[in-house]
Amino acid sequence: MECHNRTEINGKCNGKIVTEIHNAFGEFSIKAKKHAFQDNQEKSRKEAEDASRLPALEAAYATILQELGEDTDLPGLLRTPLRAAKAMQFLTKGYHENIYDILNDAIFDENHDEMVIVKDIDMFSLCEHHLVPFFGKVHIGYLPNKKVVGLSKLARIVEVYSRRLQVQERLTKQIATAVSETLQPAGVAVIIEAVHMCMVMRGVQKMNSRTVTSTMLGVFREDPKTREEFLALAKDR
Ligand SMILES: [Zn+2]
Repeated sequence: MECHNRTEINGKCNGKIVTEIHNAFGEFSIKAKKHAFQDNQEKSRKEAEDASRLPALEAAYATILQELGEDTDLPGLLRTPLRAAKAMQFLTKGYHENIYDILNDAIFDENHDEMVIVKDIDMFSLCEHHLVPFFGKVHIGYLPNKKVVGLSKLARIVEVYSRRLQVQERLTKQIATAVSETLQPAGVAVIIEAVHMCMVMRGVQKMNSRTVTSTMLGVFREDPKTREEFLALAKDR
């Protein structure tokens, strides 16, 4: 994997971010692309399974609390294992959903060949290394090739992939790949800016550090002018 999907940690403003992204194109590897989609297919958890899995999940949370030295019979904690289990199922409900189901009836034939950008899509996810949140903004751009998608569906794609255990790099790539595979556009660009609670609350405890990742496919990778247009529009507030 080359540096098309680059992680940059900094506490600075857009100027810095754009500099990093300019350096962020490299070979888009077909292997990486396949991997992102296989991931999606293999990890699905059926919604109907959640109810039957809940008791074991609840018991597991009770164990966690007890091993942390808590008394799970105290009134405040009595229903915490159940609440935590339900919360975790909700926070990972992206496994229930398949990108194709969501987009199936929302792709339209349209002779539009100008760049489409949806920016500042709110994103909340869980880091798969520590099971704590990371959250921020997603900016998606694509250059249509006879097909467009309902704009709200781009936000739904973010939702499907972010409501899973994730790393930001993979999330970025999965969103870009989903748009690319379903719309077959001339190009796709995705940027995610996020704050990781595992960095803020533990470890290095850097309050203001943000992680920026980008994936550029097709013309956004190959054509500097297209890429720069996207970057300018994405950072324009
Ligand atoms: Zn983490």
